[in-house]
Amino acid sequence: MGRHIYVHIPFCEAKCPYCSFYSVAGSKRQKEYFEALLKEIRETKKEASDDPLEKDTIYFGGGTPSVPDAEYITSVLREILEAFKISEAEITIEANPHSLTAQKAKAYKKAGFNRISLGVQSLHDDTLRTLGRLHDRKTALEAIELIKEAGFTNISADLITGVPGQTIEDVLEDAKILAESGVTHISTYSLSIEEGTPFEKRYGTSLEDPDIELYERQMYHTLRAFLEDRGFTPYEISNSAKEGFRSRHNGSYWRGVEYYGFGAGSHGYIRGKRYGHEDDIDIYINDPAHRIVEEELTEEDKMAEYAMLMLRTSDGITEEGFKGRFGKTIPVDIRAKMESLVKKGLCEEITGGIRLSRRGLDLANEAFMEFL
Ligand code: SF4
Repeated sequence: MGRHIYVHIPFCEAKCPYCSFYSVAGSKRQKEYFEALLKEIRETKKEASDDPLEKDTIYFGGGTPSVPDAEYITSVLREILEAFKISEAEITIEANPHSLTAQKAKAYKKAGFNRISLGVQSLHDDTLRTLGRLHDRKTALEAIELIKEAGFTNISADLITGVPGQTIEDVLEDAKILAESGVTHISTYSLSIEEGTPFEKRYGTSLEDPDIELYERQMYHTLRAFLEDRGFTPYEISNSAKEGFRSRHNGSYWRGVEYYGFGAGSHGYIRGKRYGHEDDIDIYINDPAHRIVEEELTEEDKMAEYAMLMLRTSDGITEEGFKGRFGKTIPVDIRAKMESLVKKGLCEEITGGIRLSRRGLDLANEAFMEFL
């Protein structure tokens, strides 16, 4: 089984008003942060020397990894490639259109990144302004072009749905342009109002109005179907891809595979233990190897979590998948929960298992609760 690595780059140009991810605006302590990252990777290398060397995905997320100088980013990738002897991995970097330049895209490609995930969010300037994004439609489309010019063929773009004022027609127009732009993967996220964000103050619970929620769900299903018609198969609640371009990195999370998490605010899961780093750059810089052990998973926990995460995907929970992951058939208690989900109409039967039904896609959290 392969191993997977996540690197958190917690810097952004400005804080978006809806965002609850750990990130800081500005470049404070960037140099020290990257030195700390290198230190954590070197320490982990010692500890990981007996690990199987089949480590097959690396993902730089954030924050906004395209904000710091490319040299910082490429030095971290170099260290990982050397430390873990990685080859032929899917290596992704998240970028946003405002901070990505042609020079950065070329430097990423040269260093070994082979996939870029671009935070387009919308191609309507009014929606982008509502979201507080720094880019506009023109910049987003230019960013896709410079990514292609740098030689990337595996390109993902994010879209946000359910933004106040946004219409189904707006979203379909965005999807049409993206589908024709050369991107190979599209992630669609529904805007959620997170606690403690400026959006919470601005909108409160107003987006929970049943009519607004219904419209957002229509938007979601229409968009999924629209993308499918254009060759982007929905393979997970929020993701659609062209043939051969599913995200391997996310696929590993959903299968419950172990991974390292490097950087402030990152989480990892190694040798059956979940761990995390504090959401604080200063604490991380002082002691990058310090991990908060959050939880040790039993075999039963792992199976329940696997079932819950696989429900996110179009593959669903199947006898074959379970055997491949755990070397045994689906236990009786999980099977009973699967049957209950079908009875409630949240799941539908597929060959050898179940997956979310259309109703289940709208009430996914209710379905996931079954396994908590
Ligand atoms: S760019 Fe992304 S990570 Fe940074 S504040 Fe905006 S939404 Fe959050």
